[in-house]
Amino acid sequence: MNRIAIYPGSFDPLTNGHLAIIQRGLKIFDRLVVAVANNPDKVPLFDVDERRRMISEVVGNDPRVEVDSFDGLLVEYAKRKGIHRVLRGLRAVSDFEYEFQLANMNRKLLPDFDTVFVMTGEDYFYVSARLVREVARFGGDVTGLVPPNVAEGLRRKVQGG
Ligand code: ADP
Repeated sequence: MNRIAIYPGSFDPLTNGHLAIIQRGLKIFDRLVVAVANNPDKVPLFDVDERRRMISEVVGNDPRVEVDSFDGLLVEYAKRKGIHRVLRGLRAVSDFEYEFQLANMNRKLLPDFDTVFVMTGEDYFYVSARLVREVARFGGDVTGLVPPNVAEGLRRKVQGG
């Protein structure tokens, strides 16, 4: 049996917290599609292509992982892909309420749709892409929070203004 799930997110940028969820997800699923959401309401630090490229550089060699992106509703993307399982990570209680709403809304939109939650380990429960962006913007050291290529990408963005 080939168990596949979509792991959707902004990934602006990919963090070691995301990577930990991908590694844990691969223990549950045979394959994962890491899907970068193109959210028109947010002005991202990295555009979708930059985010996809950085993710591919880190996990692209693993044949079990596909990197993709989507616009619009996740359930519509899931229908197009024929994949009705989604992987999400949980950090703290604060993630729970939003994730619970999202999972139930998605199931309302597509009844045969399930969200599988994986809890992060103690190493990354405080890591969010938003905080990483803020730390980098003010010249803080993001080593250990993101993969080396992302740290380099952040340095270039910050230097570029
Ligand atoms: P962020 O919340 O960091 O901006 P995304 O919107 O890209 O990240 O989130 C994609 C998914 O990854 C969400 O389910 C989110 O809860 C999860 N996630 C993000 N960072 C972590 C982390 N450090 N540990 C566990 N899950 C995480």
